[in-house]
Amino acid sequence: MVALSRRIDHADGSFGGVVVGYIKLSYITTLYQGLNLGPGGASTLLRTDGTIILREPFVNAEIRRNIRNADNFAILNSAQKGHFEGLSPIAGESRIVSFHRIGSLPLIQVVEIPGDAAYAAWWRKALIIGAILALLCIGCLALLILLNGEIARRAAVETTLARLAATDPLTQLANRRRFVEALDIEWRRGIRDRSELSLLMIDADLFKDFNDSFGHQAGDELLKKFATCMSSNLRRPADLAARYGGEEFTIILPATDAAGAFQVAENIRASIAKLRHPHVASGNKTATVSIGIATCQPTLGTDSEILIAAADQAMYRAKADGRNCCRGDRLLSAA
Ligand code: GH3
Ligand code: MG
Ligand code: MG
Repeated sequence: MVALSRRIDHADGSFGGVVVGYIKLSYITTLYQGLNLGPGGASTLLRTDGTIILREPFVNAEIRRNIRNADNFAILNSAQKGHFEGLSPIAGESRIVSFHRIGSLPLIQVVEIPGDAAYAAWWRKALIIGAILALLCIGCLALLILLNGEIARRAAVETTLARLAATDPLTQLANRRRFVEALDIEWRRGIRDRSELSLLMIDADLFKDFNDSFGHQAGDELLKKFATCMSSNLRRPADLAARYGGEEFTIILPATDAAGAFQVAENIRASIAKLRHPHVASGNKTATVSIGIATCQPTLGTDSEILIAAADQAMYRAKADGRNCCRGDRLLSAA
C-alpha cells in the first residue's frame, strides 16, 4: 500500500491533527494491467525522490530501486507533466517517455514505450496512404497519357477532315471552296504587297467527245493525269491548283507577272500534250487543254471576280484560236 498523509490546521493556524489515507497498490496494478502498452512498454509509479513504488510489468527487484542518479531522471522532476524521447531513467534504454506529477503529491506517473512500437502504427498508416497516393499518381499519369493520345488522335482526325473538306476527291487537287478562300487571301495579300497576281483557267479540249469515245471512267482517269501535270509544273509553295468544276481547272499564281504566268501555262499545256493521250475527235488525235491567263495588281475596293472573268474570257479566246494553246491579257488593271 501507499500511505498518504496531510496535516490539518485549525482556523487560527494551530495544529489540528494528521489525516492518513492508503492506496492499495493492487488497485493501481489493476489499472496498469488495463493498459495495453505493447512489447517493451511499462507503466511506473515513482516517488519524486526517485524511488520506484510500482512497475508493470511487475519485477520484484525493481520495487524500491532508486533511480535519482540515472540519466534523464531530472527531466521527470522538472515539470508537472511532459514527455521526451531518449534514454529512459527507469528502463535504461531508449524509449518514448511520458510523465505526469499526481496533483501536489510527491508521486510521478511514468509511461514508457519503445519508439519502434510507437511509430509502427504510424508507419503502417503512412505506407498505406503512400501506396494509395502512388496508385492515384500512376492512375493520373495513365489518364494523362490516354488524354494526350486522344487529343493527338482528335487533332489528326480534324486535320484529315479539314484536308478532305478542301480536297477534290477525284484529282486530289484543292476543291472549289478552297480555291475561293485562297484567291481571297492572295487578292488581299496582293493589295498589301502591291504585287501582281495571276490566274490560269484550264479547260480540257473536246472532253465531251472524249467521254463519248472512251467512256466516263477513262475521262476521269485522264482528268487525274491532267491534275498531275499541273501539280508537277508548280514550283512555289503559294501556287495553288484547284478543280474549278467538271473538266475545268484553275491555278492561282501569287506574286507572278504576266510573263511568268504565261511560262507556267505553256509548261502545263506542253506537258499535257506530251502525254499523247489518244483522243479521236481532237485535231492531232491527242488529248489537250486550252488555257486562259489573267494577271493584275489587286487594288482596294476591287474584287477577285474580275480576275476569274478575265481568265475565263482568255480561255475562250484560246478555244477560238484552235485549242491546245494559251491566251492571256498581258496586264489587266483591277482599278
Ligand atoms: P471544249 O473544248 O469546247 O471545252 O469542249 P468540251 O466538250 O470539253 O466542252 P463541253 O463544256 O461541251 O463539255 C464538257 C464535258 O466534260 C462534259 C462532260 O461530259 C465532261 N465532264 C465534265 N466533268 C467531268 C468529269 O468529272 N468526268 C468526266 N469523265 N467527264 C466530265
Ligand atoms: Mg468546260
Ligand atoms: Mg472543255
